[in-house]
Amino acid sequence: CGVFGVIGVSDAANFIALGLHALQHRGQEAGGIVTHDPEHGFSSARRFGLVRDSFTSASIMDTLPGEIGIGHVRYSTAGSKGATQIRDVQPFFGEFAMGGAAIAHNGNIVNADALRRELIERGSIFQSSSDSECIIHLMARSLQRTIPERMKDALRRVEGAFSIVAMTRTKLIGVRDPLGVRPLVLGRLGDGYALSSETCALDIIGADYLREIEPGEMVVITGDKVESFKPFERQSPRFCIFEHVYFSRPDSIIGTKSVYETREAIGRELAKEAPVDADLVCPVPDSGTPAAIGYSLESGIPYAMGIIRNQYMGRTFIEPTEQIRNMGVRLKLNVNRALIRGKRVILVDDSVVRGTTSRKIKEMILDAGAAEVHFRIASPPTAWPCFYGVDTPEREKLLAATMSEDEMRVHLGVASLRFISLDGLYRAVGVAGGRDARQPAYCDACFSGDYPVKPTDQMARGFKL
Ligand code: 5GP
Ligand code: SF4
Ligand code: MG
Repeated sequence: CGVFGVIGVSDAANFIALGLHALQHRGQEAGGIVTHDPEHGFSSARRFGLVRDSFTSASIMDTLPGEIGIGHVRYSTAGSKGATQIRDVQPFFGEFAMGGAAIAHNGNIVNADALRRELIERGSIFQSSSDSECIIHLMARSLQRTIPERMKDALRRVEGAFSIVAMTRTKLIGVRDPLGVRPLVLGRLGDGYALSSETCALDIIGADYLREIEPGEMVVITGDKVESFKPFERQSPRFCIFEHVYFSRPDSIIGTKSVYETREAIGRELAKEAPVDADLVCPVPDSGTPAAIGYSLESGIPYAMGIIRNQYMGRTFIEPTEQIRNMGVRLKLNVNRALIRGKRVILVDDSVVRGTTSRKIKEMILDAGAAEVHFRIASPPTAWPCFYGVDTPEREKLLAATMSEDEMRVHLGVASLRFISLDGLYRAVGVAGGRDARQPAYCDACFSGDYPVKPTDQMARGFKL
C-alpha cells in the first residue's frame, strides 16, 4: 500500500490526490482521502479503482476541504482477501475522546487476530475486516491525554510492519515500526509538510525531500513544528530488501540511495555471478528494466526491448485472482518479433513468485522464433511468504518452495535459469561484505525464511517456520 499526508497547504486534498497518483504502483485496488477543516470537521471519500478515476472530479474533490489531510492507496494483503469491500478501504477514521483521528497504514500487523479478539471482547465495534483498524480501537481505549500519546500506547501493542500517516484536527503524524520494514519519508511543501511512502510522490507536488522517518520514530507535525519521538524499545533496523528490488518506484530515493541505481547494480552483480553467452539482454518490463540495463552494461551484451508493455495495464501481480493474473500477462506484454527471431535472448525479471509470468513469457518468446531463452532473476528464489505487507501467496504456491533451481528451470522450460545470490543482493544494495547471518541489515524473509518478527497469527493458523 501507499500512504501520503500533508499539512499547512490550502486545498490539501489536491496535493494528496497527486501524491497518491505517484504512489499508485503500491496499490491499485482502491484509494481514500480524509481531510479536516474547522468549518466542516472531518471529511472522507473512499473509492475503488485508480486515483486518476476517483479523485479528479470537482464533485469529489469539493467535498474534501481543509489544509490538512491524509490518503491511502490499497492493495489487499490482509483482511478481506481477493474481494475488497469498501469498508476495508483506508484511511480509517474514528471519533473518540480528544476529538478523533484518521489513520492510513502500510504494512501488516502480525498479531491482529489476537488484538481484534481482545478488543471485541471488551466492546469495540469493528467496521472493517482490516488488521489496521485495531490501531484506531486501541487508541480509543487508551487512557493517555493526547492523541500522539494514545497512538504510542496503541502501537506498543502492535507487532509487525507499519508505516503510518495519521491526523488529528490539527496535527499530522508519521510513524514507522521499530524495524522500519516499510518506507516513510518527510518533505517540505511551501510553508507546510508532507509525509509519503516514497520520494517520487514528493517530486510530483514539488516538495523537497528532507529525510526518512527513522525506524521506530514518530513525528508529530503542528503548524511549523516537527517534533520527533522514539516511543519503542530500540532494535536494529530491518528494512524490506524487496522494496529495492521491486516494490518502490525506480525514481524514488531510499535513504540516500537511488532505487534505479541499486537495481542497475543488482543487474551488474547478476551478470558477474551468472554470465551466459547470448545475443541480447531484454528486460521483462517494467520491473526488470533497470536490472537488465545493469546486466547489459556489465556483460557487454546489447540491451534491447524484446518485450513491449502495454502502458495502460496495471501490475499483473496485484490483480487478486488467479484467472485475471493468467490473462494479464498477455494483455500486458507482447513480444517484439522482428527483434527476437533467431536470437539467443537473456530475459531479466525482478522475481519469480508462482512462475506464471515467466512461463508465459518464455512461450511467447519461443513462439516468436527465439533460438534460446535464458532467465536471469534480480532476486533470490522467493521461497517464503511475506507477512509484512507484500502480497505473496501461501508457501505451497511459491515455485521456489517446492522446487530446486534446476527443477524450476525444467518447469519453466528455459535453457538456463539463475537467481542473484542473497549475498550478491546485499552487495548491490550497498552492504560490501554481503549478508551478515547473525545481524542481517535488511528483512529478507521471503528469500531466507528468517522472519524478523514472529508471524503470530499465521503460526496460530498452522504456518510452520
Ligand atoms: P509470478 O508470475 O512468478 O507469480 O510473478 C512474478 C511477477 O510478479 C514478476 O514479474 C514481478 O514483477 C511481480 N512480482 C513479483 N513478486 C511480487 C510481489 O511480491 N508482489 C507484487 N505485487 N508483485 C510481484
Ligand atoms: Fe520485504 Fe520479503 Fe521481508 Fe516481506 S518478507 S518485508 S517482501 S523482504
Ligand atoms: Mg514484473
